Amino acid sequence: MKKKQLKTELDIFNDLKSSFLDLDPASFIENNLTLDGQPFKILGNGWRFMVDIYRYIALQSTKKNGKPVVIKKGRQVGATMMAGALDLYFTNSGIFNKPPVRVIHLFPALAQVKKFSQDKLEGMIRTAKNDSINNNKLKSANAVDNLTMKQFKAGTLWIDSVGADGDRIRGMTVDIAFMDEIQDMTAQGVGNATKILTAAKYGPTGKGVQVYFGTPKERGSYFNTLWDMSDKRYYYLGCFNCKKHFPFYVPESDSWKEVWVSGYKVKCSHCGTVQTKVDAIERGKWVVTEPDAKYVGFHINQLYIPYFSKENILDLMPENNPAQTERIWNNEVIGEFYSGAGLPLTKTDLYNKCRDPDRTFSKKINAHSKQTYMGVDWGGKDDIKGGVGGKSYSCVVVLSAGSDGVLYVEHAHKLRKNNFDYKKDTMKEVYRRFGIRRGVSDWFFGQDVVHDLQAIYGDKFLGAQGSGSLVKPLKYREDELIVSYNKDLMIEEVFDMFRKGKIRFPWGSYEYIDWLLDHCTSMEIKQKMSSGNVIKTYVKGPTPNDGLMALMYAYMAYKFDVTKGYSVKPGITKESSMPKPILAHVKRPL
Ligand SMILES: [Zn+2]
Repeated sequence: MKKKQLKTELDIFNDLKSSFLDLDPASFIENNLTLDGQPFKILGNGWRFMVDIYRYIALQSTKKNGKPVVIKKGRQVGATMMAGALDLYFTNSGIFNKPPVRVIHLFPALAQVKKFSQDKLEGMIRTAKNDSINNNKLKSANAVDNLTMKQFKAGTLWIDSVGADGDRIRGMTVDIAFMDEIQDMTAQGVGNATKILTAAKYGPTGKGVQVYFGTPKERGSYFNTLWDMSDKRYYYLGCFNCKKHFPFYVPESDSWKEVWVSGYKVKCSHCGTVQTKVDAIERGKWVVTEPDAKYVGFHINQLYIPYFSKENILDLMPENNPAQTERIWNNEVIGEFYSGAGLPLTKTDLYNKCRDPDRTFSKKINAHSKQTYMGVDWGGKDDIKGGVGGKSYSCVVVLSAGSDGVLYVEHAHKLRKNNFDYKKDTMKEVYRRFGIRRGVSDWFFGQDVVHDLQAIYGDKFLGAQGSGSLVKPLKYREDELIVSYNKDLMIEEVFDMFRKGKIRFPWGSYEYIDWLLDHCTSMEIKQKMSSGNVIKTYVKGPTPNDGLMALMYAYMAYKFDVTKGYSVKPGITKESSMPKPILAHVKRPL
């Protein structure tokens, strides 16, 4: 009996101790959250650089003279989990309940909001220890608990999109704002978003707590500007022998290869003592490189990930691994901005050159009012190839052609399902709704659908097959209703149209085109030797490009018409000697 009582007292003491420790975000996380039910451990195991950032941000909320925080990070360094954990720390720890704190976690577009809220945050809430986060939810009759808003007893959390110009969140008031994937936001969008912090009750007066983070992409982006205004902190390792700190990753330097001896061993630059990376991280500290800057900047990359060996990193270098590109190495591994010859097009380019600010998607187009063309890229390819990078979706893009040769994106979407009937029904719907004059789709991965649709539409729906021909980049095989095309040259042509601003995006439908902009800017250029010549080829980047392919097919459909089946150069009005394409069903091969 006595023993039991003692144990109870110990329990009470432990409860007290852990709730006191909840003041520290790192302890709050370890005490309350799990990673899919597994312990969420970040103390003492080589994540110290991250723990310090958590603590720095938490501290900002209590200060009146703090600065906005910018985090520039490689991919897979745990920053999304960090942000989700901080969202819950601020709204659930109870430290920020007088008055109840208002936190917003912003993304560039609603698609990312959904992904984060559903896949990450909900999971974190569901797997919290003793269901503590769910228990903290406000239970009143009109309490909100949905994808974009969660009300807790001690605070409110919103997850939302900045969109094209921050109009979705205009008029809100919050204390703390996390701006996720800041690279894909515009200066105007972020500017409008920060206005919701002017009446903040936590953090610096009139500014609140602002945290900007993301994986860097191109040089010269808005994120790049923010980073350049920061004090650029880098994490130094701590030596157990001489007690001094030494740099590990240094921008634009390979010195980490010297410091990182091999495997999980690093060498002190001062005394030469070899020690384990995890321990040296735990003894480490953040070092400011540009004092008196407007923002506080933290740089994290994959070199610091505790479970990565030197060999893991070496294997990610383009010179050691043909599958790696300079862009992936820079952006995702070492967390640096990059703009090399390998980057054909950026989102900023599209924003500057191809944006129709007020135009929105068309709901319906009358075939007599506009000439419309459709392109389709069939999804499910990655499954077939067994490749990585996740499932690819079927995408459709509808363009209309202006008399001046300018093409307007009128509609685009990703098909929700990949089965035969769904694909076929969607095509019919698109033809009907947008009065499609001609469509092109990739043939190899959609043979069944293409044949069926050609039975209805004849040469109004063409299959496309890649070819290496440089002499005839586009060729119509009339009897098969197939267009063979040189992919590199066609992509080059489409990019040239982008650069000239001759393909226009309806920015008024930003939430619906955001994914397409991503797809259009994901490809990279690689030089290839072919019979003694250097040839420029486009290769798949780190993210999907199906939408770009669909747009390219729509462009090929348009080009088919203006060149009369690719037989004349545009602008030459001479009637083609080629017989008119026939409206006939090609026998489906058995
Ligand atoms: Zn030393």
